[in-house]
This record gives sequence, C-alpha cells and structure tokens, in this order.
Amino acid sequence: MKSLQDNCGVFALYSDTECVHDIFQGLDFLQHRGQEYCGISTFDGNIRQVTHYGKAANTFKYEELEYLKGTWGIGHVSLWERQPARWQSQLGEIAVAFSGNVSNADELIDDMKGRGKAFFKGYNIEIIAKIIMEEQNVVAGICALSKKVKGAYSLIVLSGEGIYAARDIYGFRPLVLGRGPGRYSVASESRAIQNLDMELVRDVLPGEVVLINDKGFQTLAQLDSPRRAHCAFEWAYTASLDSIIDGASVQQARNRLGASLAQRDMDEGGLEADMVAAVPMSGVGHALGYHKRSKINYQEVFLYNRYADRSYTQSNQLAREKMAKRKLSVLHYAVRGKRIILCDDSIVRGTQILHKVRDLKKSGAKEIHVRIACPPLMYPCDFGISTRSYEELAARGYIKTGNITSMEQLSDLEARIANEIGADSVKYNSLDSFVAALGIPVEDLCLKCWDGLDPTL
Ligand code: SF4
Repeated sequence: MKSLQDNCGVFALYSDTECVHDIFQGLDFLQHRGQEYCGISTFDGNIRQVTHYGKAANTFKYEELEYLKGTWGIGHVSLWERQPARWQSQLGEIAVAFSGNVSNADELIDDMKGRGKAFFKGYNIEIIAKIIMEEQNVVAGICALSKKVKGAYSLIVLSGEGIYAARDIYGFRPLVLGRGPGRYSVASESRAIQNLDMELVRDVLPGEVVLINDKGFQTLAQLDSPRRAHCAFEWAYTASLDSIIDGASVQQARNRLGASLAQRDMDEGGLEADMVAAVPMSGVGHALGYHKRSKINYQEVFLYNRYADRSYTQSNQLAREKMAKRKLSVLHYAVRGKRIILCDDSIVRGTQILHKVRDLKKSGAKEIHVRIACPPLMYPCDFGISTRSYEELAARGYIKTGNITSMEQLSDLEARIANEIGADSVKYNSLDSFVAALGIPVEDLCLKCWDGLDPTL
C-alpha cells in the first residue's frame, strides 16, 4: 500500500452551548487546507457524526447540523481522507481526526495484522486510532504514537471526557488553542479561532497532550521533544495570510520574503519595471513585501475566481491544471505594454507559472520577471505535504543530485527555469535569505524540501 499523504486541517470546540454551528464555521475558515472531504463529530452522551465529499459550505445540510447535537465536538477538512473516524473500544466511544501523515504505515499495518488486528481500509487515521485504542487510556494512547508513528501529526480526539489535542514531538504541523466566553477551542490555524471571536491563547507545544473541557485547558502529558521542526512551507504557502503560527505572523513572514526578493534585485543592479503583481492568492503577501521595499507600484493583473478551488490541493495533475485555468483571468488593460514583476510562493512542477506567464504575454505584457519566495524545491516531503516526487520538481530537471551550494549555481538554474516558462527572468530567495525572512530560528524549522535533511534523524 502506498503511504497516503495528506494536507488537512482540524478544528474542535468545547462550549457551554450547542457547538456545531461554530465547528462548521471553523472548518470553513480552514477550508484552504484541503477541499476533498470534510466532517464533524459531536458528543451528546454518544458520538454523532456526519462526513462529506466536498467542501463544508457546499455539503452540510441544515438538517445534518441540527442532528449534530452536543456542546463539544471536532471537525476536519482534508485532501485525502474522510475524517473524523469514530470507534468503539476499551476506551469507550471516541472520534479521531488528524492533520499529517504516517510515513511508516505499511510497517505498522503489518505489525498490527501480525497481532490479529483487522483493517477496514488502511487509511492513516485507522492506524492512528488503533494505536491509541490499544492503550488503557487516551493519553497513554497518544503518547504511544510518538514511539510508533513516523511522520507528522496534529491530532484531536473526541470523547466523553472532552477533547484531547496533541502535536507530534517535532511540531511539524501547527495547532493552536483559543478561548472566548464559555468556549475553548483548538485549531490548525489561529484564523479559525480569531474569526469566531475568540482569542488566541497559545500554540500546543511539540509533544504536548492537552485535555479541553469545562475546566479549560489541562496539559496531561509533555513528551520530550528532541528538537522542533515546524514546516517552513506553512509561512510561505500553506497557512492563511491572517494566521499566526508558532508565534510568527504569516503575513509578516510573506512580506519579508517579498522584501528579500526586492533587496536582491536592488543589490544586483536594480530592475526597471512598471508594476509588482501577485499570483493570487498565495503570492499576495510576497508581492506586497516586494512593493514596499522596491517602491514599485503594486497592481493586480489577475482576477481571482473565488468560486474555483485552490489548485494545489486538487488531488491529481489534470484536476490541478483545469482548476488553475478556472481560477485566474487576466486583467488585460492593466498589463498591456507593461513590464511586470510577478511574485509567487513557489515553483513545484512549473506548469502553473508557465501558464500565467503565457497568459500575461498573450494579453500584451512587455516583460515578465518572476520572483519566487521559496528557494527551488529539491526534495519531496516525507511529512504529508502534497504528493511530490523528485520527477515532479522542476528544479530537479536541471540539478539531478545534491543541493544548490552557490549563488552562481542558483543563477544558472534561474536562467534555465526562465527559459522553460517563457519569463524574461526568474529569481528565487536563496535558502539563507528564506530562513532569515521567516524570522524563526533555523534549528526550529523543517527545511527538508530544500536541504534534504530529515529533522527526525
Ligand atoms: S519536507 Fe518540506 S513540506 Fe514537508 S514538512 Fe518539511 S518543509 Fe514542510
């Protein structure tokens, strides 16, 4: 079985009133993290659960929300798996949802099958839940995950005692706690908490297990964390611009990444252009940062179709390309005859940026200078972000092995990518500039996409 890789978000609420409508809204605020499946489980003496294929706002019916009674519950949005999943066990009835992946899934399934366990489908959530349910209580079960599961997980468990929330010992995926009058919450991103009129309290710590109930937040376990390894991609792309993750604002990080690209252009002799523009929405924070540092006008050149899904989280290439086409249309009068600095977060396969450059040139743009916040992606992710392989990474078409070790090598790659996508120039942030702009200590980040180093080894 191929180990499933996931991109998803979790939200949970313990409230003094019915919780489902806030959970539904919380999921809506996290929908950018995965649009294929969504689900809600609530507790009112028993667990009630509804899951759907599609986005929360499009799929949940009013009667289903009415059915989901209870004052505490959990929700999930996902690219790959239908969650939460509900189980009866020696721990009573529980529902589990997580954001992450199990990279040693095959090994764990073989081990559990050898001990007489049966698997319904072999989804990652099934492995996680069965490991938890083998132990005498939920906390011991969550602690057991850290010894058995390789990968990344931010996890929520619904039970009669309340909601358990936990983060793997490296803290790959974000997980934050929030509170408001009569309500306690945990979410993949702070925006879900703040937009529901609660205050952000803090991040769940790597290796921490928290119980959320009418007493608020109680830390029931704190596992040793050998180091932090927060996914650097969260600040550059995955998280919403209005979120704060591990104490760092996504918006400010993206502004600094854009400013760093502008500074490089200024240091290398300056770039004459009529406007700075973004590939919406993921390039906006970077483009504004470039604009502020360079003082070149910011101008929108694409109209964003808010009714189309985000292309990155579509599950196959054909769907991604079709969606990318539907997502953005060129504002022709803004671009005709103009020299444009076009900012985006990253180049994975290169097909999307190629289409954008082609569309702008077809509409009469004179020059397109592409500026990319992330350094060239050199390695696939082993921790559940997308399904990239070496073959899918554009930079690997030119640098077959090893890392980028000098600015000369980076410039050479940039010239080749520019030629491939039809741009007048391409520049990326170097890895050093990227880390400096994020503003998070390098030793607290996972940078495996760029340096190939597995932070868990
Ligand atoms: S390998 Fe890349 S995408 Fe995966 S967790 Fe590390 S930085 Fe994030």
